[in-house]
Parts: sequence; C-alpha cells; structure tokens
Amino acid sequence: MNYWLNNLKTPCYVIDETAMIKNLEILQALGRQTGCKVLLAQKAFSAFALYPLIGEYISGTTASGLFEAKLGFEEMQGREVHVFSPAYTEEDFTELIKICDHVIFNSFGQWEKFRAQIPENVSAGLRVNPEKSTQDIAIYDPCAPFSRLGATLENLQDKDLIGIEGLHFHTLCEQDSDALEVTLDEFIRKFGYLLPRSENACRGSRLKWLNFGGGHHITREGYDIERLVRCIERVKSYGLEVYVEPGEAVALNAGWLAASVLDIIHNEMDIAVLDASAACHMPDVIEMPYRPNIVGSELPNVKKYTYRLAGNTCLAGDIIGDYSFDHKLKEGDKLLFCDMAIYSMVKNNTFNGMALPSIAVLRKDGKTEIIKEFGYEDFKNRLS
Ligand SMILES: *Cc1c(COP(=O)(O)O)cnc(C)c1O
Repeated sequence: MNYWLNNLKTPCYVIDETAMIKNLEILQALGRQTGCKVLLAQKAFSAFALYPLIGEYISGTTASGLFEAKLGFEEMQGREVHVFSPAYTEEDFTELIKICDHVIFNSFGQWEKFRAQIPENVSAGLRVNPEKSTQDIAIYDPCAPFSRLGATLENLQDKDLIGIEGLHFHTLCEQDSDALEVTLDEFIRKFGYLLPRSENACRGSRLKWLNFGGGHHITREGYDIERLVRCIERVKSYGLEVYVEPGEAVALNAGWLAASVLDIIHNEMDIAVLDASAACHMPDVIEMPYRPNIVGSELPNVKKYTYRLAGNTCLAGDIIGDYSFDHKLKEGDKLLFCDMAIYSMVKNNTFNGMALPSIAVLRKDGKTEIIKEFGYEDFKNRLS
C-alpha cells in the first residue's frame, strides 16, 4: 500500500493536493471558457490551509452563515465572499455586511427586514425555489414539498424587488448538467420575467447576476461540461453574470481517512474494530447513507477475507460496512477510506469522547505534512 501510510498516526484525514489541483484546473478552465465565477461552498470543505491554493484557481467562497463567511474572508484573502442563510439574526447580519460582497436572502420577509442596512458595496440577492425536483432523495432536495429553501413564484406575486441585484437557486446534489438544464428551463419559465433582456421582462428589471448554487458534479469523470457551458451561455445572453458554487466538486476524490485496526472479533462473522468511527468521522455513511470505498478492498465475499468494519464507539450501529480483502486483517493494519475530504472534517463530532482525526496534506512532491492535531482539550472545550 501507499508508502506514506506506514508512518502515519491514525486516525488522520489526508488531503491529496495533486487531486485537488486537478479538480481546480477543471473549475478554472470552466471560468475561463465561459466567464462564469466559481465559488467554493465551504459547507463541504473548510480545510482553510488549502484556501490560498484554491483562491489561485477560483473566484472566492460562499458561506452558510457568519462563521464560514469569516473563514472565507480571513483565509482566502482578496477573493469574493458570498453568504446565504435560511434566516439571518440581526447580530450576525451586522457582521456579515462588513465582510461579504454578496448577501443572499431566503425570503422576501428577510430582505425587507434587512434591506435598509445593506451598504452600497454589498450586492443583495434572493434565493428562489424553482419547484422542480430532479432527484428522489428528499433530504437533499430543496424542491421537495414544503421546502423552506427559497422563495416560490407564488411568494413573489406583487412584490417589489427593487434593490435585488441577483437571484440564486440551489436544487442539485451530486448531479450532472442535464438536471441543471431541466432546472434552468423551469427557472426561466417561472422567473424569466425578472431577467433583463427577456421577452416578457418586467419594467425596471435590474438583475445583474444569477447563481446556479452547488451540487454540480463537475469534476467527476463523465460529467457533461459542454452542457453546463451552454447553460451558462444561455444565462449570459440575458446580460447576467453567472456564479456556480460547488462544494463537493472542488475536493471530490481529493482525500482519504486513514484508520487502523484495533481488534478483530468474531460473532458469526469477522468484525474489525477501527480507531475511526462512522458516527463521528464519516457521519454521511450513516446519514446519507452510503458505502465509502477502501483502497484494496471489494464488496463482501468477492475477495477471500470478509470483515464487517466498525467504529470504536458504544453505538451498536457504528458500522461502516462489510468489505472483503485479499489478506487477513490484523491489529495495526491500516485502511484508507476514499473520497473523505468532503463532508467529513466539517461534520466531525466528539460523541463518545472520540478523538478528532488529525489533518494532513499529501503534497505534490509526495511528502505528507500534518497540518493539525487534536486532543483532549478539543473535546473538553466545547462542553462545560
Ligand atoms: C450545499 C450547498 C452548496 C454545495 O453543494 P455541493 O453538493 O457540495 O456542491 C452550494 N450552495 C448551497 C446554497 C448549498 O446549500
């Protein structure tokens, strides 16, 4: 297995700088080809040690609230800072307008509440809900019935949008550009009257930009970039600037979680207890749910030795899944869970007093560098 793994203290996330740069090159090329602006959605990936690198390729960050906005402002210096939150508190809003250049509201009510405070140099936007589902998983579908995310067409009837400079929609999750195209068709059918240069444009339409949200799996092999380019060009023909704000696509397949086997036990099947936990360190395995790949493993019973891999917490359901290997697993063996840069570090928790994994970067030159280690204090400090 990978030579750098031998000396690595686990559990540890390892960010793969080379893979990250490959993703960033694709996103940069998209920006150059279409003139659109690409933002990192920090919700998926907030390892800020990489922000200076990321900022060399894309236009900035977007945030889900004050803390992410601050992080983007501080760590990706000189780049754009956008924020969208389902609802702002007055306290946070006062801070946000000092550091964000784009503030996006989730409802007309929020816009009315805060519009008087927005300074000249901050562009205000409104998130809309095109009400067009293109996927079946309700927890990842902002267009699902009764969604709180984005103003519906009905919400905007007879509303005065003067002062709103941009619209935003976010409806996708790990999807290709065909789903974007379906969404965009619906967006234009419903909200086209707000776009300058459209046939039925309402008088005084002053929109400057449209944000396509995230969920675009742009850096996945086989993603249809040309269709995305056509979508962007279509919106630019209305005279609008286009933003996309992928999270996953920035760090897709750009990291691992390295874990060690602590014990092997047998209860009608072989079970390996690891020093990493699904519940604490890969919560999406349980929440989404999905099955992460492990370097050198297969589905159960494909290779000679099958194990159930489980975490080191007291939660009975702290199970990552069943996997088969060519060799017997033994105490001290290391495993590399794939695609663990996204929605992992940002979702960590210390349930059961579990230690947080360290964070390392596998540099372009093949050297691993530990950039953060955590300890007991990190557990204690968030409790009282
Ligand atoms: C989650 C989210 C994103 C990023 O989504 P990915 O699936 O990680 O690309 C972008 N914008 C908004 C508003 C989001 O909620």
